[in-house]
Amino acid sequence: MIREHPNPIHCILPPHILDSIKMRGDEKMKKMAERTEKLADKTRVQREAAAPEKAFLSAPTISGPTTPVVTREVYNGGRRVGLPGELVRAEGDPPSRDKTVNKVYDLTGKVFDFYLNAFKRNSIDGQGMTIISTVHHRRKFNNAFWNGSQMVFGDGDGMLFKSFTDLSVIGHELSHGVVQYSGGLMYKDQSGALNESFADVFGVMTVQYANKQTVSEANWLVGEDIFGPEVEGEALRSLKAPGLAYSDDILGKDPQPFHMDLYVNTSSDYGGVHINSGIPNHAFYLMAQYLGGYSWEKAGQIWYQAMQKLNNPMATFADWADMTVQTAWDMFGQGSFEMMMTRRAWRLVGIHL
Ligand SMILES: [Zn+2]
Repeated sequence: MIREHPNPIHCILPPHILDSIKMRGDEKMKKMAERTEKLADKTRVQREAAAPEKAFLSAPTISGPTTPVVTREVYNGGRRVGLPGELVRAEGDPPSRDKTVNKVYDLTGKVFDFYLNAFKRNSIDGQGMTIISTVHHRRKFNNAFWNGSQMVFGDGDGMLFKSFTDLSVIGHELSHGVVQYSGGLMYKDQSGALNESFADVFGVMTVQYANKQTVSEANWLVGEDIFGPEVEGEALRSLKAPGLAYSDDILGKDPQPFHMDLYVNTSSDYGGVHINSGIPNHAFYLMAQYLGGYSWEKAGQIWYQAMQKLNNPMATFADWADMTVQTAWDMFGQGSFEMMMTRRAWRLVGIHL
């Protein structure tokens, strides 16, 4: 079996945004972007040195009379480098005086509830894994990431970015963990963009589930709440309109394509994993619109079950599209409306099966 590179760091903020800040920002912003980049690299190197290579696990669906319960731990990083930091709130503890700690405690609980109730999945690994978060990581750190075993949040610089503790971001990061424990997808080129896309799709679904929004009521945005007062843009990414999430003097313009004709061939960002993810993101959006109602009831089930069955860490967009159509066939029948709409959604983004 091919194994994923041990625990890559999955950052919510893609390198093309940091590149843009370096080119267009003032001196202070440039320094910040360089620091954020270097620190992310350093964390990556530390993790790779420390983390043993793990074999993939396949998560069993829960069964039996007992309902699993969430176990959370929220740490204060103390604006320092070390992880996880000081434990401030463990499961069942009363609220802390620190609002960010309480916010992350509550929002990680919402992601757990989403996976449990919508997909019968007991936490990130399917086996009740403790959800560990560190807040106040480093000073004015402009990012949030999943490092293979826990989540880490920066407070943002207060100008370009606020705190990264946004429900869609938390849903996104924990869903990287779900991919990791569902057989994994190599964090490079198309399989890497699928890894990013799965995290975006399940990140926005977490928000929709928490707010009980239908596919037409939802805004389909990732990171709606992280931009600071000086940024022009709705969010970091949009599944409804990839390429139109933001357009800002400093951050640049959202580079995501929504169709294979606009696929970006690049060597940066592991082959544009945060860019080309716009294509499968938009396919999911289109399919969910065709199927209507709540995204997690049909569209989300097809995507989730397809991920459980994929077993191909180097899957291309076409491999993944094929698996989703096959899954829709298995779940709803050959020639069913659900299967036809899944295929149509892929066709509309330029993937013909
Ligand atoms: Zn990601």
